[in-house]
Amino acid sequence: ITKKKGGIGISYANENLTILPKDYLDLEKELKEAIENNEYEMYYQPIVDVDKNIIWGAEALLRWNSKKRGLVSPGRFIPILEESGLINEVGDVIIEKVLKDIKEFENKDINFIISMNVSGIQLLSQNIALKLLDRIKELNIKKDKIIVEITESVLMENIDFILPQIELLKKEGIKIEIDDFGTGYSSLAYLKKLPISALKIDMTFVKDILKDEEDEQIVKAIISMAKSLNKKTIAEGAETKEIVDELKKLGVDYIQGYYFAKPMPKEKLKNFLENFIKNKRG
Ligand code: C2E
Ligand code: MG
Ligand code: MG
Ligand code: MG
Repeated sequence: ITKKKGGIGISYANENLTILPKDYLDLEKELKEAIENNEYEMYYQPIVDVDKNIIWGAEALLRWNSKKRGLVSPGRFIPILEESGLINEVGDVIIEKVLKDIKEFENKDINFIISMNVSGIQLLSQNIALKLLDRIKELNIKKDKIIVEITESVLMENIDFILPQIELLKKEGIKIEIDDFGTGYSSLAYLKKLPISALKIDMTFVKDILKDEEDEQIVKAIISMAKSLNKKTIAEGAETKEIVDELKKLGVDYIQGYYFAKPMPKEKLKNFLENFIKNKRG
């Protein structure tokens, strides 16, 4: 996603994605109606603290529960939300839902941190930091309960524009993580300066860590760099015990992946947490 003269444009690393689906116009219309029809829902995927062996947090992930199409994954519809600009409206829905869920978790004694994805379009077309901070204040939410995820490519390609928002969040006590780390082009000078608390190592490196020597070296290098810059690391997409063990050996701080849990509706979280404590620690 890049700022252009005439406004905001999207460019994808994978050129194929710019080919719009045949039913693009239908989808766009349905995605808009989905707001009023209340078809958007947040799922939560637990994140494990490797040293303490506890659930440290969860990532909030958008789902579209379409009456017509069933449960649709973000990979299919987020590009359309971004292309059409609808991501701003849906982004507001996401903020509302996530903040209210955080409140609910607090009341139910579910004690963890929620990370929320923010689209580059949102960051470039409005002051999302300010909006978020206002709502957090209105709802009286503890600021250390929420983390904002920004993808590496969006952040680095638009650093001048996004930096003030990041600095505001940081100043107000909200942590920021770089998502899909390793797939963009980070400037090391920026990485050193930016008020970022953690790097989320992209799934593409994690998935083949046992098979591909280079991927293993990349993950090693990211962890070692993060440590020396005093940032945490989170590995995404760990699907097997072998991968989890390897990541632990390499010294990653947090792990998120199907091995522990798939994203789930919030109603299932409490049960999951109780079972996790029973099985892994009890
Ligand atoms: P992401 O932010 O990098 O989220 C992680 C994705 O990896 C999620 O896919 C999650 O389900 C998936 N994942 C986690 N562990 C595993 C694993 O072990 N194996 C496999 N195969 N996958 C795993 P999901 O939910 O489909 O989301 C895809 C992307 O859509 C997200 O990538 C994010 O870029 C975007 N997205 C999702 N929710 C939101 C949202 O609320 N707002 C915005 N702006 N983007 C979102
Ligand atoms: Mg994310
Ligand atoms: Mg990611
Ligand atoms: Mg991603």
